[in-house]
Amino acid sequence: MPKRSWAEPFKIKMVELLKMTTPKQRKDAIKKAGYNTFLLKSEDVYIDLLTDSGTSAMSDRQWAGMMLGDEAYAGSKNFYTLEKAVKKYYGFKYMIPTHQGRGAENLLSQIMIKQGDIVPGNMYFTTTRLHQEMAGGTFYDVIIDEAHDSTNPHPFKGNIDLNKLDDLVKKFGAEKIPYVCVATTVNMAGGQPVSMENLKALRAYTHKHGIKVMLDMTRIAENAYFIKEREAGYSRRSIASIVKEICDQTDGATFSGKKDALVNIGGFLALNDEKKYEEASNLVVVFEGLHTYGGLAGRDMEAMAIGIEESVDENHIRARIGQVIYLGEALLDLNIPIVTPIGGHGIFIDAKKFLPHLEQLQFPAQALAAEIYEDSGVRTMERGIVSAGRNAKTGDHYYPELELVRLTIPRRVYTQAHMDVIAESVERVYKKRHKITGLEMVYEPTYLRFFQAKFKKL
Ligand SMILES: *Cc1c(COP(=O)(O)O)cnc(C)c1O
Repeated sequence: MPKRSWAEPFKIKMVELLKMTTPKQRKDAIKKAGYNTFLLKSEDVYIDLLTDSGTSAMSDRQWAGMMLGDEAYAGSKNFYTLEKAVKKYYGFKYMIPTHQGRGAENLLSQIMIKQGDIVPGNMYFTTTRLHQEMAGGTFYDVIIDEAHDSTNPHPFKGNIDLNKLDDLVKKFGAEKIPYVCVATTVNMAGGQPVSMENLKALRAYTHKHGIKVMLDMTRIAENAYFIKEREAGYSRRSIASIVKEICDQTDGATFSGKKDALVNIGGFLALNDEKKYEEASNLVVVFEGLHTYGGLAGRDMEAMAIGIEESVDENHIRARIGQVIYLGEALLDLNIPIVTPIGGHGIFIDAKKFLPHLEQLQFPAQALAAEIYEDSGVRTMERGIVSAGRNAKTGDHYYPELELVRLTIPRRVYTQAHMDVIAESVERVYKKRHKITGLEMVYEPTYLRFFQAKFKKL
């Protein structure tokens, strides 16, 4: 055991001042936002746990990299720096930058999925599934059952159930399955990791059936940390080498640089197959821009390349996850029902257990997120029935087993004292939980409704 605590391997060079709001201001603000934390103004938020996406603090090295931006339309120097980083740390042969992760998901879905195809994955992610559906595919969840149980202690709740996958292969035929989509770590399950053993078993199974494996590698360094901590044979391995080994089990990946890679915008599609790369590098011109910038400024590519290197630093990842675990343990000490084991990028409160008097159609997680904001100005988000959306064919709501409020921790942004304030606020709301009422949806957008839906109190 290292003697030093998880304390941050950096010091603070610049600060951003925050507006402190009154209870009355917050009550008005959340009502005006239709009880949807996505529709709040950021200046009305004290501690912003809406997402860890694009909200990290860049290092001085990354900021210095921004000044090296080569803003040429074609063949920017920064593209080659990024390509080099992707080869070095992830091992993929080809890389196409995109404006963010979903741009890569669009390209991958368009080049791989045909009408009527089946795409299995370890739990859905909102934008990923939508792009698969828009390309004519149908998503099937093949995550292990333990992932749907918020307190099951399984150390790798992101694992794929190979029996579920085998059932799909038997039912539809391997030729209907272009690839299996594997996420590291699984966001919707509460930031739960996949084990290397499971990835290797998946590789062997899919190889036998001629099915590709595509990685949603958004939080791969965080997954690698859990493998190092929990999986036999990995405790002495470097995070960087584990990250590389994960990539080696796959044929390509979509990446949102806005998470692990510590930048505010950016992503890429990585592939090993030359033919598929050619198709994607042609298609990217339609949606994002030329294949050497993909909707990014040169400076963004430079900052992402530096962020990729920083993301696999042992002390960085230990402090990052250490802070998340610190908050999770504070909430567990207060008997707050959260998803356990504690995940990599945030704490997920079990809203069904927190507000057992509400039905799922009264949107308990949405209501709880609004309540926490009103209490303290801490902004969280819903990951339950609103996020799950509706079945594209039947029009019915999906009723996910997990009805969660996500407290996502931006990287290198908040302090331990902020974590204490968050825990105190959740405790206050917990004490008055019996008084919290449900919500009614009064406006529902067609796509990814959680972003823009509006509610009123019942
Ligand atoms: C954020 C995220 C994406 C999409 O990336 P964006 O950069 O937001 O477009 C895909 N998959 C997972 C698991 C994510 O967390």
